[in-house]
Amino acid sequence: MNFKQLHLNRPILRAIAEKGYDNPTPIQELAIPVILERKDIVASAQTGTGKTAAFALPILQQLYDKQDSGKKGKKIRALIISPTRELAIQIEENFKAYSTHTLLTSTLVFGGTAIDPQKEILKKGVDILIATPGRLLDLHKQDVINLDYVETLVLDEADLMLDMGFIDDVKKIERLCPSTKQTLLFSATIPYKVEQLANGILDNPTRIEVSGTTSGAKGVSQLLYFVPKKDKNELCLHLLRNTIKGKIIIFRRTKYGVDKLEQTLLKNGYKAVSIHGDKSQSMRQEALNDFKKGDANIFIATDVASRGIDIHDIDAVINFDLPSVPETYVHRIGRTARAGGTGSSYSFCDAGEKNYVIAIQKLIRKHISVEENHPFPLDPKAKPIKHVKKSGGSKHKKGRKSNRSKVKKKRWY
Ligand code: AMP
Repeated sequence: MNFKQLHLNRPILRAIAEKGYDNPTPIQELAIPVILERKDIVASAQTGTGKTAAFALPILQQLYDKQDSGKKGKKIRALIISPTRELAIQIEENFKAYSTHTLLTSTLVFGGTAIDPQKEILKKGVDILIATPGRLLDLHKQDVINLDYVETLVLDEADLMLDMGFIDDVKKIERLCPSTKQTLLFSATIPYKVEQLANGILDNPTRIEVSGTTSGAKGVSQLLYFVPKKDKNELCLHLLRNTIKGKIIIFRRTKYGVDKLEQTLLKNGYKAVSIHGDKSQSMRQEALNDFKKGDANIFIATDVASRGIDIHDIDAVINFDLPSVPETYVHRIGRTARAGGTGSSYSFCDAGEKNYVIAIQKLIRKHISVEENHPFPLDPKAKPIKHVKKSGGSKHKKGRKSNRSKVKKKRWY
């Protein structure tokens, strides 16, 4: 299928061609026709699948068809709610690019920055508003925003939105829009609480799912390193020196871990930047820009801070700490090999993280290859897994040079 077959208007097709997209991605093929029929949808698709265009293109098409000649007095007709500022920025960049040959306008509001400039822009009128929930409600309370004309409401990354505690804000925003609106809910995963939200606010939604969340990102090679916790820094430096080149994202579980690793890498002469929830908006944006421009080639982040950020051409992902939620592993490695490319992922597992590997492998339904040839192997005696199958009755012979070959045979992973 090509974009023309999706019956998009010429100015939008032109913008798509300028972006260099040849064909629609699976989520775009499935979602665009349904959205153009003005149906509500619940779509499960993670970042990297082209989901932003999957909603942005049909929204623009519908607004374009009913364009009010681009004069003053524009009303907000499409509202996109995003859980994070970075994601909101990206969504707006997408809308701007796709609407470049139309008179449609979009703008962005999010917290953590001055509210007055945002008010000034809103007063001029805009067709499409992209917002984080808190700032949107603030502006509504101050009477700067009128949601009475919203025709389409998008809730992006709904699972993250709920994880971040925005459920009441989202429900409030939904009620502020007309009941006739179309609602599009996008979520990487559809856990029970997202299902509940969808049941509460959507009208007989069409369900759309594209594979990815459970199958493991296609085109990503995956390697697992068993390593003592204390040696993870050294293993990371060793791999950066010898194996992993190019643009790299490193995930850590905690903000403290992100800061520590950034210091270590900077001290060792690497060009690293980082983001996490305690950094100011301007620091986060600066780090992202440095990485995008290539001034830094290593980007260290926590999961929440990095969620939804679209960074191109990632060569490798390092899971410095393994995530306790297996779906997060899939999201992380999905950062590389985007839009059909290839990439590599390297996961460090210490003795305390072995159960995470089991959960991840269950989810992705395959074994992750183990790289045993590295200078910091985990002591094979460190085996906190209860259900390791012992290999027969033969006891380890004393005085053997190494019992690692035996451990290898046990392969609990
Ligand atoms: P998203 O999942 O919306 O974050 O998009 C991931 C990346 O895919 C972005 O860099 C988009 O510009 C890109 N993209 C979206 N649609 C297409 C397409 N049809 N062909 C190629 N790249 C695309």
